[in-house]
This record gives sequence, structure tokens and C-alpha cells, in this order.
Amino acid sequence: MKNDYIISNNFIDLKKHISHYQTDKIFVLCDENTFIHCLPKIIDIFDKEPITIQIPAGEDNKSIDTAIFIWNFLTNHNADRKSLLINLGGGMITDLGGFVASTYKRGIDFINIPTTLLAQVDASIGGKNGINLNNYKNIVGLFNPPKLVYINADFLSTLPSQQLRSGFAEVIKHALIDNENTWKKIKTINPENIDLEYLQIIIKESVAIKMKIVDNDPHEKGLREALNFGHTIGHAIETFFNRKKINILHGEAIAIGMIAELFLSNKKFTFDFHKLFEIAEYIATYYPAFKIEYNNYDEIYDIMKHDKKNKNNQIRFSLLKDIGQIQTNQTVDKEDIIQSLNFYFQIKR
Ligand code: NAD
Ligand code: ZN
Repeated sequence: MKNDYIISNNFIDLKKHISHYQTDKIFVLCDENTFIHCLPKIIDIFDKEPITIQIPAGEDNKSIDTAIFIWNFLTNHNADRKSLLINLGGGMITDLGGFVASTYKRGIDFINIPTTLLAQVDASIGGKNGINLNNYKNIVGLFNPPKLVYINADFLSTLPSQQLRSGFAEVIKHALIDNENTWKKIKTINPENIDLEYLQIIIKESVAIKMKIVDNDPHEKGLREALNFGHTIGHAIETFFNRKKINILHGEAIAIGMIAELFLSNKKFTFDFHKLFEIAEYIATYYPAFKIEYNNYDEIYDIMKHDKKNKNNQIRFSLLKDIGQIQTNQTVDKEDIIQSLNFYFQIKR
């Protein structure tokens, strides 16, 4: 299972790749936003106009109902085993489209063209596809990499800045699990105001970090757990606010999770306090502050207790001994988790 990708600001590379397909049926899956903002950017690369499938935007549509709609659409348009599905969108589209393509007629080829920063550095690569079921995220799905991931920062010119910042949290995560030099570069960047040409270079480095990890652990047997840094607490915070109907994006929650988990890294592995403050300060500068009352901590802890990544009923963390030195499968005391949340909420802004 090899993950192939092209990072380019040139659509000719994509055109070349697609022209190899001996099919008269190319489908492009878009949501309502990528249909408007992204489809016009690629439409000229096709010799024959592709068949567009448009679905509503939003995580709620990463569902079995939408999958059925797309399977029906493909049958009604006589898609066969040689047809190609191009997923043009954020992680919602690449996860869903990858799932639909992998299961339609036992699998047709698909290409991911991620159009959010989160999808470019994270969701579109690594071969994980799937849909949500009721309240369970990504509960049905499979590992099956796309034939190609085509990444072009030019798509991000229309992405709302809150979405850009959210995706940038995964760039920060990759830097911290990679090495000191990568972090040194990242900490000079203002994610709210970044030149797209420079961002393309940063994306390339960030993708390489994830790729190195997933290529060595395509089916998530161990190594990939490094990518969970910031996510044990981050996910719980995301779920907590979602339940309260407070709008928090994934990356905004992961930014909080990284600060809290670095605090735990300091407790358990004496992760350097100076670095902890530097990273916490950087995140506090660019990411919004969310408020949690002391009496909500138990609820957040409870959410962590039900995390599907737990083993033997114990909450697992991927912590850092130092920048670039990940320690997976770590357990910590409840009291320390509470303190780590306190640490985040006491950062001066
Ligand atoms: P998303 O796909 O919902 O996109 C966010 C919003 O941006 C949507 O409203 C979308 O229409 C809009 N949008 C996309 N591209 C745009 C553009 N260029 N210009 C303007 N608007 C644009 O969300 P996301 O953050 O990209 O992805 C989240 C999903 O990714 C979740 O479902 C998550 O589970 C999944 N994910 C998967 C993996 C994996 O390994 N498969 C990893 C991380 C996340
Ligand atoms: Zn994430």
C-alpha cells in the first residue's frame, strides 16, 4: 500500500496523471463550497467534461445516507470498474468519497484533491476512509489509499481563516513530533496571515512527516499512535463543546489538547518547562481561548474514559520526552489530567 502524492502549484501535473485514465467516465465529488470555489480551478484540465456530484457541506453529511446517494448516482450514470472518482474537498469529502469509491463494485480508483489545510496535511493522506454513524465518528470505513493525492495551496485562497488556523494545528503537531528545527520554523509563522507560496513549502514538509509515519504503519498497528499527540485531551474538549453546541473546530480543540498534553509530558518525562511555555504562548497568541469551568472537568474526563483508543479501560496518551521524542501508550493519573486542564485555562492572554 503506497501513498502517492504530488505537491505542486501547477495543474499540468494533475492533468498528466488524469490523462492516463482510459475511461470516458470521470466523476468529481464536491460539496457546495468546493463546487463554487475549487471546481472552476481544475475544470480545464479535463479533455472531456467530468460528471459532477454535488452534496451539501458539513460533517453531518459524512453519513450512510450520503454514501447511498453517491452509490445511486454512480449506478444511474453507469459507472463501471474503470471509472474514476475524484474527491475535491476537505476531509469530509475525501473520507466519504474514499469510502464510496472503495466499496462501489468492490472498489474503483479514486484521487484525492484536498482543498482545506487540514485535509492537505492530514485527512487526505494515510489511506483511512470512512463515514460517521449516529454519534460515532468514523465508525464504518476501511484502509485503502487513493491512487494519487494532489496538493496545491492555491485552493486555500478561498478557505475561511478559521478553517486555515484549524488545519495549522496539525502542522504544529507534526513539527513537535518531528524535531526541534521544524518547530523553530513553524513558531515564526502567523497562521492567520501566511503567504500561500510559503505555505506550500510548509505543507510539503508537514505531509512528509505524516507520510514517513503512515508508510511504516499503514494499518495503524502502533507507530501511527504518534499522530495522536494532543488528541486524547483535544478530542474530549471537541466533544464537550460540540455537546454544548459551542462551535469549536477540530484544530482549535487539538491546540488546547497539545498544551495540556505537553504539561503532562513535563510531569511524566520532564519535558522542558521553557519549551512548554514557548509553545503554549504561541498557541495562546493565535488560537481562541475557550472557557471551561472547574466543575466541567469531570465531564471532560468522563469523555476521555470512553475514548475508543483506550486499552484495558485506561486512557492512553502520546506524550513528548522532548520535541521529536514521542512516547506512545502512556497512562497518567486523573489528578494530573485535571491539573493539565487548569494549566491551559491559566495561561495569560
Ligand atoms: P470539511 O471537509 O468539512 O471542510 C470544512 C469547510 O470548508 C466545509 O464547509 C467545506 O465546504 C469548506 N471548504 C473546503 N475547501 C474549501 C475551499 N478551498 N474554499 C472554501 N471553502 C472550502 O472539514 P475538514 O476540516 O477539511 O475535514 C474534517 C474531516 O476530516 C472530518 O470528518 C475528520 O474525521 C476527517 N479526518 C480524517 C482523517 C483521516 O486520516 N482520514 C484525518 C483527520 C481528519
Ligand atoms: Zn487531528
